[in-house]
Amino acid sequence: MTSIVSKLPQVGTTIFTTMSALAAQVGAINLSQGFPDYDCSPELIELVNQAMKEGHNQYAPMAGVKALRDEIANKVQKLHGAAYDPDTEITITAGGTQAIFTAISAVIHPNDEVIVFEPAFDCYAPAIKVMGGIVKSLELEPTNNYRIDWGMVKKLITNRTKLIILNSPHNPTATILHQEDIEQLSAIVHNQDILILSDEVYEHLIYDGEVHHSMARYPELKERSFIVASFGKLFHATGWKVGYVLAPEYLMNEFRKVHQFLVFSVNSAMQHAMAQYLKDENTYRSLPDFFQQKRDYFRQGLAQTQFELLPSYGSYFQSVKYGHLNNESDVDFAMRLTREAGVACIPTSVFYTRGTDHKVLRFCFAKKQETLDDAVNRLLDFKL
Ligand code: GLN
Repeated sequence: MTSIVSKLPQVGTTIFTTMSALAAQVGAINLSQGFPDYDCSPELIELVNQAMKEGHNQYAPMAGVKALRDEIANKVQKLHGAAYDPDTEITITAGGTQAIFTAISAVIHPNDEVIVFEPAFDCYAPAIKVMGGIVKSLELEPTNNYRIDWGMVKKLITNRTKLIILNSPHNPTATILHQEDIEQLSAIVHNQDILILSDEVYEHLIYDGEVHHSMARYPELKERSFIVASFGKLFHATGWKVGYVLAPEYLMNEFRKVHQFLVFSVNSAMQHAMAQYLKDENTYRSLPDFFQQKRDYFRQGLAQTQFELLPSYGSYFQSVKYGHLNNESDVDFAMRLTREAGVACIPTSVFYTRGTDHKVLRFCFAKKQETLDDAVNRLLDFKL
């Protein structure tokens, strides 16, 4: 086949597909792929039904339903004091992954360099490679809680650096960016022709009263950033695949050049329903408490096992270290836990280009309390 295809992993081999399939095959509790095991709000489902009955069943505008873009603009203004023009600076996408792929393909040309912090979510590098870009990765480590060494970032910058990809709250490590990171990042990009792709899909899943440092809050960063958000995370509806991207007009124009041919437009009934549902601020203001309770509950359970818990500041993931228990690779151990303990998780070495194995496993806690109980009990019964 062509060289482009050979740059990408085989179909069906992403870690999420693999672990979810294995969990289903052996009947394990699936704490691997990140998605809730409880339903989204019945009110939201009702609003979708209503939108369909009202006849919102034909193409939405390419940029997305205006009412939804207006609500998003309000929300970003309220939360971050940032103005985005709904007509020219907000586009509704078929989920976060599509937004990320589209943004990368809109700006990356052959040999452009993209700085990526690893462990990194699995869809960044493939998009860069398909466009002929070069992934310049900086490995972060659990020993210093995955802190970004901005001195090292500076060393990676060349005159071909086109884009820096950030992700806060971070998947898989559950770390967040702090004010100090923002200052360092701002100093690095100041007066440089460097863009930012900020994956903020877990923006509302942030705990202990911490602030989400969206790129939208900082004018100098905002003016060079694509910000990606996800209604799947916001409304507990990952299967609906609706998200959005924010960007200044000159960047959004490039984004839409691709978007108009890639997806053209996203399903209309759900957008109408979401526009209505989003009017209630509580839909997002309640999320930190809702998930923090799950995080705390799961951590209490895991604390009884022999795993060493890493902090979880945001996202719906909790990572643990197990290197003091055995020498198995994290991939082997995750597979064995799935088969023998009946609990599926994600080995984090797969998020490093070089497969660096710090013996860290990621569990998703966006689950019913009884699911978390069951998982912890299975782990306690299993001889680690
Ligand atoms: N974001 C989800 C996770 O990290 C996975 C999404 C996917 O399967 N691509 O678990």
